[in-house]
Amino acid sequence: MPESVVLGVRSGQDGSVVYLADPVPASEVLGDVPEGIEPRRILRFASHCASDCVNRRGSDCTLVERVLARPVAREDGSVPRCHLRTRCQWWTQTGVAACLRCPAVSTLHRADDTLAELVADPATTKEQLDDWIAARSGR
Ligand code: SF4
Repeated sequence: MPESVVLGVRSGQDGSVVYLADPVPASEVLGDVPEGIEPRRILRFASHCASDCVNRRGSDCTLVERVLARPVAREDGSVPRCHLRTRCQWWTQTGVAACLRCPAVSTLHRADDTLAELVADPATTKEQLDDWIAARSGR
């Protein structure tokens, strides 16, 4: 979307998002991404909510409800220093719970990342997510 911003850069082995000091308009950055690299693999984008979004339910975002099923992204429990907070639907809706998981959310996930696939799918129920995570953790 034309108004999209780059919120952070995915880094490290797990691809966690490192948040920029200030979001940068995506249009200013996309030209610097090397040819052949899918920008969503290395950058985390944010944009306005769309009225026809498949994740919308009234004024709520159902995507963040599924994101909350994920384990927290940072073992030290620290919250990202994020400049979108005052305008963030996820923060408005869930508070710090979303921020604790936000660094693990990618705009484009790997094909073999089943958890990310389930979280991204609007048809996935909370029970399905909980069952999948429980099965993986051997509970
Ligand atoms: S969930 Fe938290 S860290 Fe993520 S974009 Fe919103 S305010 Fe920023």
